[in-house]
Amino acid sequence: MTRMTADARHADVIVVGAGPAGASAAYHLANAGVDVLLLEKSAFPRDKICGDGLTPRAVKQLIAMGIDLDAPGWARNKGLRIVGAGHRLELPWPELASFPSYGMVRTRMDFDEVLARHAEKAGARLIERTAVTAPIVDERTGRVVGVTAKSVEDRGRRTGENRGDRDNRDDSSNMDFRAPVVIACDGVSARMAIALGLERRENRPMAVAIRAYYETPRHDDEWMESWLELWDGEPGRSNLLPGYGWIFGLANGTANVGLGILNTSAAFQHVDYKDVLRRWLDHTPEEWGFREPNLVGKIGSAALPMGFNRKPHYTRGVLLSGDSGGMVNPFNGEGIDYALESGHLAADIIVQALARPEGPARERVLEGYATALESAYGGYFTLGRVFAKMIGNPTFMKQATKYGLPRTTLMKFTLKLMANLTEPRGGDVSDRVINALARVAPAA
Ligand SMILES: Cc1cc2nc3c(=O)[nH]c(=O)nc-3n(C[C@H](O)[C@H](O)[C@H](O)COP(=O)(O)OP(=O)(O)OC[C@H]3O[C@@H](n4cnc5c(N)ncnc54)[C@H](O)[C@@H]3O)c2cc1C
Repeated sequence: MTRMTADARHADVIVVGAGPAGASAAYHLANAGVDVLLLEKSAFPRDKICGDGLTPRAVKQLIAMGIDLDAPGWARNKGLRIVGAGHRLELPWPELASFPSYGMVRTRMDFDEVLARHAEKAGARLIERTAVTAPIVDERTGRVVGVTAKSVEDRGRRTGENRGDRDNRDDSSNMDFRAPVVIACDGVSARMAIALGLERRENRPMAVAIRAYYETPRHDDEWMESWLELWDGEPGRSNLLPGYGWIFGLANGTANVGLGILNTSAAFQHVDYKDVLRRWLDHTPEEWGFREPNLVGKIGSAALPMGFNRKPHYTRGVLLSGDSGGMVNPFNGEGIDYALESGHLAADIIVQALARPEGPARERVLEGYATALESAYGGYFTLGRVFAKMIGNPTFMKQATKYGLPRTTLMKFTLKLMANLTEPRGGDVSDRVINALARVAPAA
């Protein structure tokens, strides 16, 4: 990072982290003419361990950002194939006025860069290799007025680190960045939130998931495939493995294959994720190619913070967006969409807030972010929390798979519920039932 002038380190808004939440927030702010600094610790292109699956909800957000989805690299799919209890059920994404009827898959290796560069093109000032270390708190008001950051190497390490000589570390790279509003989009590590004393809520669901890329003839599957049961041999006659699996074709010769385990499952604490993945995949058909010689890159795992596991989402000039605010959907592990949506919402609210005079009038608008998030997802995430608890019980899951999967109408309802795809107003009976349930469920 070259030395920057103090002016270059001032902005209307600082966004910490250029994942989907950060890119979305920065894009919508810049598009509204707000001066925004987007600070990212790594250098693009960089990977993020993920399943790479985008539901129609996420596609809607990409469209709202003006991303060219006809460009090369975007693999479209028409729905979800559910595998379990001897059934393979194909459920097209619902036809709705509010969401497109297709999903997509794209590796995070380039998905995040496409979004971040798009925000940059809209006018956001993206600074890579810059790790935010702490918020700057105004002692008089208690408000956050910026962040401190350090220059780092491409993969997020401090300059000079890991060379066996800590004294060589280049501390001249310490910098202050100033803005009246900060959005924390720093992912599951939630460094900003933790620095402000916002601890993880232990009673919210959490999952760990592992993924691998394989060269496979299944790379151009038009369906996103989800496995409700994982066996290490013949289904029903071998060991049932913990967790739920996915196979998402990337249409580039490879597929993203992985599995996730909820902390509501008894196995959660003592699982060797790589071993479970291998035992499952070793018993998938040989011709699919999910075997060691076809493995591309490294297998990786990471945590998914669900159901608003960190709150409040607004405090003292800082808004939490995406994984930093624990916004993964507990029904299906989808986090990219909620990162994009919450980044978008944060931007809209900040645009309005900055048009008010500093002080209580502006503060009222900013506080509206937490309320808006709660009313958009609070009840739905509470339902998801109950669902996560139920599916952590293998007996429930076995019965639900056995008796639920053969019933197409029930499964269509379940797809809408799990992917949060309903018309907000009107719609059919299932839309109205799901919306009513989410409305009456207590806040998350
Ligand atoms: C194995 C696995 C599979 C998953 N599959 C799916 C899926 O198929 N579909 C889906 O929708 N979701 C999936 N998720 C969830 C999804 O990956 C996350 O919810 C999503 O990436 C959250 O986006 P975000 O922008 O909040 O955070 P992130 O994507 O984590 O981005 C955070 C950014 O902040 C940067 N950063 C962090 N700390 C700092 C700092 N101190 N200073 C500067 N920058 C910093 C990081 O480098 C990163 O660029 C999966 C997760 C896992 C672990």
